[in-house]
Amino acid sequence: MFVPRVHLPEHMPRAQGRWIVLDQRQQVLVVDGEFPAADESPVAGEAQHLLGLDDGTPFWAVSVLDEAGLLEVPEGGEWVGLRDLFGQVSETDWVLAGRASQVLVWERDHQFCGRCATKTIHHPTDRARQCPNCKLMAFPRISPAVIMLVEREGPDGPEVLLAWGRQFRGRFYSALAGFVEPGESLEECVAREVMEETGIVVEDVRYFSSQPWPFPHSMMIGFNASYVSGEIVIQEEEIVEADWYGPENLPPIPRGGMSIAGWLIQDWLQRVQKSGG
Ligand SMILES: [Zn+2]
Repeated sequence: MFVPRVHLPEHMPRAQGRWIVLDQRQQVLVVDGEFPAADESPVAGEAQHLLGLDDGTPFWAVSVLDEAGLLEVPEGGEWVGLRDLFGQVSETDWVLAGRASQVLVWERDHQFCGRCATKTIHHPTDRARQCPNCKLMAFPRISPAVIMLVEREGPDGPEVLLAWGRQFRGRFYSALAGFVEPGESLEECVAREVMEETGIVVEDVRYFSSQPWPFPHSMMIGFNASYVSGEIVIQEEEIVEADWYGPENLPPIPRGGMSIAGWLIQDWLQRVQKSGG
C-alpha cells in the first residue's frame, strides 16, 4: 500500500528506492536501487522529492533538464512519454509517475513568490514552497475539472451525449468536460458546461468517480447527468461535433481504461446492456 510522505523515516538510508525521473517534456524513466551515476549531476536544482513509501519502498520524483547525455539509462530502461506509460508499467508506477510529474511541474513553476517575487524555499515539513520575505505559501497546484456523461431516453432507446472536442488528439467522441470556476459547486459546473458546450439543460447530477489527471495538474471529477430539454447547439471554439448516440451506433470512443471518460462510457454501456436483457 502506498503511503504519501514528504520526508523519509529517520532510520532509512537516503538514495535508495525507486526513482521516477522526468525531463522537461514529460518523458519518464523509472530506475530502481541507487540513483544512477552520471558525469554531471543529473538533478536540476532542488527538484528531488520523496513521494512516499509503497510497501516500505521509497518512491522519489526527480527532474532533469534534458535526458540527452545527462543520465545513464540503466539496462532495460527507456524514456517513455507519460501518456504512453499507461499499460506498459504497473498500476502503481503509472499512478506515481503522474504524482511525480505534478509535484515536479509545481516545483518548477513556483520558484518565485507570486506576491513579491522573492525566490521561494522549501517548507521544512510540508510539501510547499514558501516565500522567506512575505511568508506566502505555494502548495502543489491541483485544478478541478468536471467530466460528465449526459443520458436520455431517445426515440429508439437509451442514448448518451458525446462530443468531438477541438483539443482531442485525433477524431474521437467523449464525455463533455470543463474546469471549475471560483465560487461554483461541482453540480453547478456540470450544468453550466453542458449548457455552454451543447445548449442542453440537465438535472439529477450524480457523482461517479474521480481521477488525478497529470496533464499538467487536473483533477477530473466524473458525473452522470440526465437530459431535461434543449436541442444541441455546439460551442464552436470547443467542440467540432456533438450528438446523441445509442449503444449500437457509437462513434470512435476512448478505449483501454486509461481515462475516466472511458470508465463513464463503459459503465453506461454495461447498464443499458444489462437492462436491455
Ligand atoms: Zn513573497
